[in-house]
Amino acid sequence: MIKIPYEQIISKIKEAKELTDEQINSKIKAKMDQLAGLISKEGAAHIIANELGVKLFEEGKLKIKDVLAGMRSVEVVGKVTNIFEIKEFQRKDGANGKVVSFIIADETGRLRVVLWNEQTDLIKDLKQDILVRIKDGYAKQNNNNSVELHFTSKSELTINPPDESIGKLAGAQRLEAKRKKIEGLIETDANVELLGTVVQVFEPRFYEVCPDCNKRAKSKEGGFFCDTHGAVISAYAYVMNLILDDGSSTIRTVFFKNQVLNLLKIEDKDVLKFKDSPGDFQTAKDELLGKIIKIVGRVSKNEMFDRLEFVVQLVFPDPEPDQELKRLEEEAKVIE
Ligand SMILES: [Zn+2]
Repeated sequence: MIKIPYEQIISKIKEAKELTDEQINSKIKAKMDQLAGLISKEGAAHIIANELGVKLFEEGKLKIKDVLAGMRSVEVVGKVTNIFEIKEFQRKDGANGKVVSFIIADETGRLRVVLWNEQTDLIKDLKQDILVRIKDGYAKQNNNNSVELHFTSKSELTINPPDESIGKLAGAQRLEAKRKKIEGLIETDANVELLGTVVQVFEPRFYEVCPDCNKRAKSKEGGFFCDTHGAVISAYAYVMNLILDDGSSTIRTVFFKNQVLNLLKIEDKDVLKFKDSPGDFQTAKDELLGKIIKIVGRVSKNEMFDRLEFVVQLVFPDPEPDQELKRLEEEAKVIE
């Protein structure tokens, strides 16, 4: 069953029929009495809407705010605002599973999109700020009581769909991250925002991955092998580290591919050039040193070195100094 919040049902009824809140409430109450405790308020409201011929939802192409848990064939268009990392896990049958998610936003809201197993391959074509269309997604309620869109075998993802556009993104474009000082970071911190100065830059490190699934490819018998796809001609992924200083302390920050591209504002092919001529990285390095950047991400414990690191999920390479100052002042006021 599709879950529609009570208030939403009431406002849909009001939109469609000339009824007051009192009239609607009394109808709902009568229905609940009639069914003597067998039905919730939402359930009764649902029945009343049906009896009045009020269409509560449309399936098919929707704005994000109209996506409801339980819908099985959702079509939405949105801008990619966050891309998370692929997580691997062990399934109950012992096989390895993979899951990854990203966030899209439109004028009306934000939606987490979840991809499983082979579908996680699609993530490598995504970039922050591109427009995507998803067809035939399955909307589901997650543990945090919010709706997310899951891919099924029928679902389709189109990047930069022709003839589609969206307006200004809804107010909260990104999950509200909590600003912290580096000094106060703890191992379990996630969705935290840091603002600091780049004080040290390490050259990107490149590693071989399978071109099909993006998993690390292993060197074997003079070639490269993927656990899933066998012998492959490897592609390259990369990771880059910076030391950030925010006045309270410093931390090593870890940028994976998409975030390296956002940070350096260059394209994948240009980063790959640094692999063969690391000397060319010097210019990029000089530009970064001393720069103030804002990043959002999570803390990760590096067991080998017994230290905390910061895994970057979003980069703002040019934070607005005025806005940041204003924010600092406001935060100071709260403390006073
Ligand atoms: Zn593979």
